[in-house]
Amino acid sequence: MPVPLKTMFFIFAVCLIAVLWRDTFDPESVRCARVLVTGASTGIGEQLAYHYAKMGTQVVITARRECPLQKVAAKCTSLGAQKALYVTGDMSQSSAPERVVRMAVEQLGGLHILVLNHIGSTPFAMWNGDGDHIRELMQLNFLSYVNMASAASPVLEQSAGSMIVVSSLLGKRTTPFVGPYAATKFAVNGFFGSMQHELAMQRSNVSLTITTLGLIDTDSAMDKIRGYTNTAYPANDTALHIIKAGATHQKESFYPGYIYFACLCRDWFPFFRDIIIQNSYTY
Ligand code: NAP
Repeated sequence: MPVPLKTMFFIFAVCLIAVLWRDTFDPESVRCARVLVTGASTGIGEQLAYHYAKMGTQVVITARRECPLQKVAAKCTSLGAQKALYVTGDMSQSSAPERVVRMAVEQLGGLHILVLNHIGSTPFAMWNGDGDHIRELMQLNFLSYVNMASAASPVLEQSAGSMIVVSSLLGKRTTPFVGPYAATKFAVNGFFGSMQHELAMQRSNVSLTITTLGLIDTDSAMDKIRGYTNTAYPANDTALHIIKAGATHQKESFYPGYIYFACLCRDWFPFFRDIIIQNSYTY
C-alpha cells in the first residue's frame, strides 16, 4: 500500500528536526581550553566552572567575593581542571572588566573561551523611579560585558576562540516587576546581536553565542519569585547546555528549549499575551 504524501512529509519533517537538533558536542573539543567565566562564585557561573573543570580545561573564575571563589576554584581542581584560578573584581567599577581579562590572559597564557554571565542584584518589584539603580545595573549587566568583550577580542581572534553571552527571555519579552533587569538584557541582546553580524561580515575567527534562559533554580532567582511559580530548571543542566552551545558555535540557543517558541510567537496576539501576563501576577 503506498504511503500517503502527508505521512511522508511528516516523517521527513521529524527526521529533519532530529538531525538539526542532534547533540554534536564533543567534550574533547574543549579539553585544555583556556576559559574565563564571570559571575562564577555561585549560581549558573559556579556550575559552568564545574563542568569546564570536568572537561579538563584551564579555568579562571571571577566575581567580587574571594571566599566563595576560593572554594569553587578548589572544587574545580578536584574535579579535574588542568588549572583553576580566580581573580576578584567588582564589575560596577569601570576599570574592572579590562583588568580581569588582562589578568586571566596573563595567568592562562592566552584565552579560548570567555563566558559573560555575571549580574547585579535588583529587586523584583514595581519600578520606583530610581534612575541611579538603572545606571549602576547598566554598568554591571551590560557595559562591563561590552568592555570585557572588547578587551578579549584580540586574544580570541588569535586563538579562533569563542565568546558566550548569558542572556534571558526577559531580554526578548517583557513582564512586570523587572524593568531595570529587562532593560540591561535587551541592551545585551541588541549589542551582541549586532556584533554577530559584524564578526560574520569581517569573516572573523571568533564565534559569538547568545544563550537565552528561562527561569533557572539559582538561589538568587528563587528568592525573588517565591510565591509566584515553582517551575524552574536546574542550574547544573543549564550550565552544560550553555557550554555545548558555545562549543558547537551556535549563534543563539534557548534553555529550556520550549522558550524558543515563546520568542517565536511573542508578537502574534499582543492583546491576549498582555492580558495573560498581567493576570498571572497578584498586585
Ligand atoms: P546569581 O546566582 O545571582 O550569580 C550572580 C553572580 O554574579 C555571582 O557569582 C556574583 O558573585 C556575581 N556578581 C554580582 N555582582 C557582581 C559585581 N558587582 N561584580 C562582579 N560580579 C558580580 O545569578 P544566576 O541566577 O546564576 O544568573 C547567571 C546568568 O544567568 C545571568 O546573566 C542571568 O541574567 C542569567 N539568567 C538567569 C536566570 C535565572 O532564573 N537564574 C534566568 C535567565 C537568565 P559575587 O556576589 O561574589 O560578586
